[in-house]
Amino acid sequence: MSQTYALSCDCGKVTLTARGEPELSLYCHCPSCRDLYSVDIASLTAWSDDNIELPDESQLFVHKMADREMTRYGCAECGMTLFGRHKPGMPVVPHGVFRKANGGHLPEALAPTMHLFYGDRVIDVDDSLQKSQGGELVGL
Ligand SMILES: [Zn+2]
Ligand SMILES: [Zn+2]
Repeated sequence: MSQTYALSCDCGKVTLTARGEPELSLYCHCPSCRDLYSVDIASLTAWSDDNIELPDESQLFVHKMADREMTRYGCAECGMTLFGRHKPGMPVVPHGVFRKANGGHLPEALAPTMHLFYGDRVIDVDDSLQKSQGGELVGL
């Protein structure tokens, strides 16, 4: 059974659909994610292009970090962040977008499995997940 996740922004104008399993679900502590999402820890899923239907760019705002290959997209109407594209190219959807569509809970199948770039952290996390000091766990 392939799970389908119907996601949308706050105002409902922009929708996206993810299907099946993400390639990755993780916490990222890298400085680029910190700057792109304005958070201390980015909590993200990464999807293959085949498993996600992204909205048309005409509906979106685009926050492109000029000096890094990092882009954030969200609803041009309400301003909610919906996804990003990072250096390796896969679309990335924050856990919060799934929580919002699922009564505040992250679907169990999307539970994060690791911390990436833990060596760059600004906050310590005391959990039992694998911690990659850089991107070596995913071959970055
Ligand atoms: Zn919106
Ligand atoms: Zn990152």
